[in-house]
Amino acid sequence: MKYFILFGPPGAGKGTQAAAMVEKYGLCHISTGELLRREIAAQTPLGKQAKALIDDGQLVPDQIVEDMIAQCFDSVRDVNGFLLDGFPRTLAQAEALDEMLARRGESVTGVVSIMIPDAMIFERIRHRAAIEGRADDASDETISHRIATYHAKTEPLIGYYRQAGKYAEIDGVGTIEEVHDKIFALLDTL
Ligand code: ADP
Repeated sequence: MKYFILFGPPGAGKGTQAAAMVEKYGLCHISTGELLRREIAAQTPLGKQAKALIDDGQLVPDQIVEDMIAQCFDSVRDVNGFLLDGFPRTLAQAEALDEMLARRGESVTGVVSIMIPDAMIFERIRHRAAIEGRADDASDETISHRIATYHAKTEPLIGYYRQAGKYAEIDGVGTIEEVHDKIFALLDTL
């Protein structure tokens, strides 16, 4: 089984690129943001707890997303592997993932990081807000908070995976197809 992590700041285009990757490589796409938005739409207790945090640009507690990931690993069959999108987002989540995979005799195959400058994050999220209407895309304050959260809590993962020899960076500036091509060329080597 392959375990790929799609990494990058909010608005880098992870969701868009993930769709192409799962199709080409037969992977199961797990987006923790998507799973959380489904819980919010269904107004579950978990969704209600997550909504306030997400709308404020904060992360939800590690345990919530770790449980979601474990549940997917346990229930999904007949795939070549998994594409984790939006997880892990903290060092604690990365360590939990390593433990989860070790228990299954597996490990992270590689991290594909899509990088764009902060100024472009704003531009892309504003564009997405007009199309998708996500509550956490609506205000500049929330977007700023998410960028700050990314730099403080998520960016340190780069060092973690670099040290493990599993980190590769792709320039996310360019057309969707240009970025696809760069990602595919990289995945073919992993
Ligand atoms: P984006 O990549 O645009 O920030 P996501 O759809 O990945 O959006 O996530 C939306 C929100 O869901 C995040 O801002 C955060 O509040 C929450 N979230 C998603 N994944 C995680 C995670 N692994 N840990 C904690 N919170 C998460």
